[in-house]
Amino acid sequence: MKTALTIAGSDSIGGAGIQADVKAMASLGVHAATVVTAVTVQNTKEVSNIHPVPEEIIKEQLESILRDCKIEAVKTGMLYSAEITKVVADILEDHEMPLVVDPVMAATVGDSLSKDGLVRSLKKDIIPICELVTPNRHEAEILSEMKITNEDDAMLACEIIGKQGSSVLLKGGHMDSKKVIDYLYLSSEFTIMSKPRLNKAGHGSGCVLSSFITANLAKGLDLANSVLRSRELIQRSIETQYAIGKGELIVDPMASISRSNENTDRFNVLESLDAAAEMILDRLPKALVPRKGLNIAYATKGAAGPEDIAGIDKRMTLRNGALVKNGPAKFGAAGHLSYILLEAMRKDPEIRSVINISPAEDTLDLLEEIGLITVSSGRRGNPLWGSATKSLLEKMGGIPDAISDNDQKSGKTVKILGKDPTEVLSKLSSILD
Ligand code: PLP
Repeated sequence: MKTALTIAGSDSIGGAGIQADVKAMASLGVHAATVVTAVTVQNTKEVSNIHPVPEEIIKEQLESILRDCKIEAVKTGMLYSAEITKVVADILEDHEMPLVVDPVMAATVGDSLSKDGLVRSLKKDIIPICELVTPNRHEAEILSEMKITNEDDAMLACEIIGKQGSSVLLKGGHMDSKKVIDYLYLSSEFTIMSKPRLNKAGHGSGCVLSSFITANLAKGLDLANSVLRSRELIQRSIETQYAIGKGELIVDPMASISRSNENTDRFNVLESLDAAAEMILDRLPKALVPRKGLNIAYATKGAAGPEDIAGIDKRMTLRNGALVKNGPAKFGAAGHLSYILLEAMRKDPEIRSVINISPAEDTLDLLEEIGLITVSSGRRGNPLWGSATKSLLEKMGGIPDAISDNDQKSGKTVKILGKDPTEVLSKLSSILD
């Protein structure tokens, strides 16, 4: 089995550090050997103590591992002091394997995870021998000794940090932009990568990202592809982050496993729904977003109940004028749309997707003009649920393309039905142009 190594601190709450690194690497099928540099005492709200491991013990752990195993790639996380950094760098210098340095300086809760002198040693001893260094903005500002407020600054900082030959991934998660922009500086060239900003990344995001990159390198991917692949993975880990205590949320290092364990149909349902939701984010006119949020549902073949129907968790809502996805596609998250779909599927098992929009004045007319069958639920006051859909469909004797409805809480809405999210979106987009 491919083996990677993490040299990092222990996080007692299990969200970051060694604990997160092992899970992230294991989730990609890579065995993780570990060298513990410090034992932190922390929970989701604070770091209350740090006990560094004596340098001789760090050296012993590292030498023992390297004597025995073929380590394909290595990462460092919290190195805490100049002394620890120097011991680690002196040993790694004599070994040919890709090294990823996550220049950890502080915890997500803000408490320091470093002693005076760490930064100097990171710059002098370990960054010059690494393949990739992965600072966030704060760490990049300290390493480059400059303020980063815009793209030019970010690029200059990368050049300064990477001046001794290492590549730099400057993570934009801590920038103030609407999109998360990451700068990859590799072989003197920049790749600028942007993604829509999700919720604030939780505890462990830096550790998990650098572990994904290290595991991908261990599996034989080149650096650029390891970074690209790992960015996709961390996006999912942040989307599915969870609460375990009263403070910061924890990113999910095993998000890719939980997902691939779903059977193929369920997996495809989630993938298509996520892709459809991403398309909607950019293209749907804001006026069509219902007051209580927008959702799109997609059922597995032969869905038996709401647990077999996926929706966007916590729906999509308008925030500062932009439509945002508040969570990933998830089974059981389609709310009342599940009951409408279940009734529709009883009549026609092929109809497995529906979207709920707030119609403009002419939406129904436009739908009819292009030959789609629309019907009004004729109900006022309550949302359209299963029994009402059932009697409606029985009266019609078939499945309409769209059902209009008027309920007290959401106001007027139109549900557009189709075989899958692609068909639903194509019906929708045919009236948008
Ligand atoms: N390493 C350890 C041991 C930590 O406790 C932390 C944060 O608390 C980190 C690294 C850095 O965490 P993050 O991945 O959130 O930047």
